[in-house]
Amino acid sequence: MIQALMTKPGEIIYQEVDVPVVGPEQIKVKMKRIGVCGSDIHVYHGKHPFTTYPVVQGHEVSAEVVEVGDSVNDFKPGDKVTIQPQVVCGKCYPCTHGMYNDCEVLKVMGFQTTGMASEYFVTEAAKALKLPDNISWDHGSMIEPLAVAVHAIRRYGDVQGKSVLVLGGGTIGNLVAQTAKAMGANKVLISEVSEYRLEVAEKTGLETINPVKKDLGEKIRAFFGSDGADVIFECVGINETMNQAIKYARKGSHIVVVGVFGDMANMDAALIQDHELTLVGSAMYRVEDYKKAIELAEAGLIEFDSLITNHVPFKEYQRAYQIIEEQKDKAMKVIIVMDED
Ligand SMILES: [Zn+2]
Ligand SMILES: [Zn+2]
Repeated sequence: MIQALMTKPGEIIYQEVDVPVVGPEQIKVKMKRIGVCGSDIHVYHGKHPFTTYPVVQGHEVSAEVVEVGDSVNDFKPGDKVTIQPQVVCGKCYPCTHGMYNDCEVLKVMGFQTTGMASEYFVTEAAKALKLPDNISWDHGSMIEPLAVAVHAIRRYGDVQGKSVLVLGGGTIGNLVAQTAKAMGANKVLISEVSEYRLEVAEKTGLETINPVKKDLGEKIRAFFGSDGADVIFECVGINETMNQAIKYARKGSHIVVVGVFGDMANMDAALIQDHELTLVGSAMYRVEDYKKAIELAEAGLIEFDSLITNHVPFKEYQRAYQIIEEQKDKAMKVIIVMDED
């Protein structure tokens, strides 16, 4: 089978490798779609702190089961699945306390261990989740980023009836905002500086503000009322939005940090202290988040299509990274088509 191998930053070659043999607890899948995200781009540029080369990327996938191991009862050939890319130890403190997404020796497929950018992939059946028929291959590959959003919402708690402000309208910010609505939030506002991403947010049914053009504080009061938002999700990972979150958070309210910070944050800790803010981190997801994500997608509560800006054939993998680089904010989710079906 053909596998896309990133030999060094900026270089991908295709190599012929044997299709792995299926163990008793494993399944073999034929890859259908792979989404490319910001973390992949860091690897492409040699700027991902925890990835070495060569590496096979691919962690946001949809695939079809083609073979199952002798002890596997939950899957059969023909099943549509997505696969959780985390490889965890099961023994450390986080793993034994329900937080395996924060495993001390966490390996993520496509970063610290082999990703799924090959025609076939063999994985533990326990990492796979069945996708209902009404979730397309494209949408199936977006269950992973949607699970990130579901986890972020749950790190706050129940958003039912709450006012939610999301800072950042990239794929994750958009999905956090859509998920908040889908999970019952009363009012959701998304703040984003890119006009293109604002348009996408509006297409997905969200209320928006461009804080460069309008005063964010005024908009917050106009939209949510004088008490502001109950919770703010920081989905960018830069000082500016972190400090917006701290500045505009209502006293005693919550900020969930979803954005990945490339640099050490320089934030107004005095306000966090004085306003008794609760700062919560959110990293990846757990299986219950995947299940909820699939449930939301199956119910048609998430608008994915406006987020999918490009499709690239498997044989042109490198173009996905180039598109994201060249089109900047206009490339949101770029999907690698592994199999035309
Ligand atoms: Zn990703
Ligand atoms: Zn662990």
